[in-house]
Amino acid sequence: QGHVRFEDVRFGYDPDREILKGLDLDVPAGSTLAVVGPSGAGKSTLARLMYRFYDVAAGRITIDGQDIRDVQQASLRAAIGIVPQDTVLFNDTIGYNIAYGREGASRAEVEAAAAGAVIAGFIERQPDGYDARVGERGLKLSGGEKQRVAIARTLLKNPPILILDEATSALDSRTEAEILDTLEAIERGRTTIVIAHRLSTVVHADQIVVLDGGRVAERGTHAELLRLG
Ligand code: ADP
Ligand code: ADP
Repeated sequence: QGHVRFEDVRFGYDPDREILKGLDLDVPAGSTLAVVGPSGAGKSTLARLMYRFYDVAAGRITIDGQDIRDVQQASLRAAIGIVPQDTVLFNDTIGYNIAYGREGASRAEVEAAAAGAVIAGFIERQPDGYDARVGERGLKLSGGEKQRVAIARTLLKNPPILILDEATSALDSRTEAEILDTLEAIERGRTTIVIAHRLSTVVHADQIVVLDGGRVAERGTHAELLRLG
């Protein structure tokens, strides 16, 4: 479950300026597609279309053959987890920030769930364990820790489809490498779309597309694209 397709997708924020000019993507369930390309190519736009912040102007996006416009918004958003580049945290605890949006559970419950199920391994371990940190305020975290909170938030939702929108681009290379390792483990079994600006961070992807001029300019594995130069 989670076969994503873009079929001849066209979209522009302004009617006179098309950003995506007939985009075709095929992401088999459970596989990882990386999307690279110059700034402004429309990579984040593609993520916004999947989440239906905007609708396509022409063409369609399907999940398991169903047009996403025919899926209830709540089910669509439950099926897709997005980790953005810059995670903005609420001025509240780490636990609250991870559990934000999970309805129906008390704050204590979600904080306990988040601590037990998710934080261990994502927030740097302290001698006194992770429990103490769930109550810590999120705003003082480093960039890397904030991204770990964003990943934990997405994992709590356990979405079959994962979108990483430059999730590690703003981090220093060492922190990036650590988080990329974590992400690779998380991607297993999920349909994943990784938006990245460097080919070196998406070596593991099953398929890489280079977006340019609103279309797929190149398509292949990491090794194939390196050969193309
Ligand atoms: P990328 O993620 O590849 O850097 P984006 O998808 O963010 O590119 O943006 C693609 C183009 O759409 C850019 O030219 C950008 O300026 C424009 N754009 C992005 N968001 C909006 C918006 N909300 N309104 C108008 N133009 C936008
Ligand atoms: P849910 O409660 O179902 O998780 P949310 O509306 O809280 O849905 O958002 C889901 C994810 O999408 C969150 O991780 C959030 O940070 C991310 N997100 C929301 N808006 C944007 C956006 N404009 N660009 C990228 N990611 C976003």
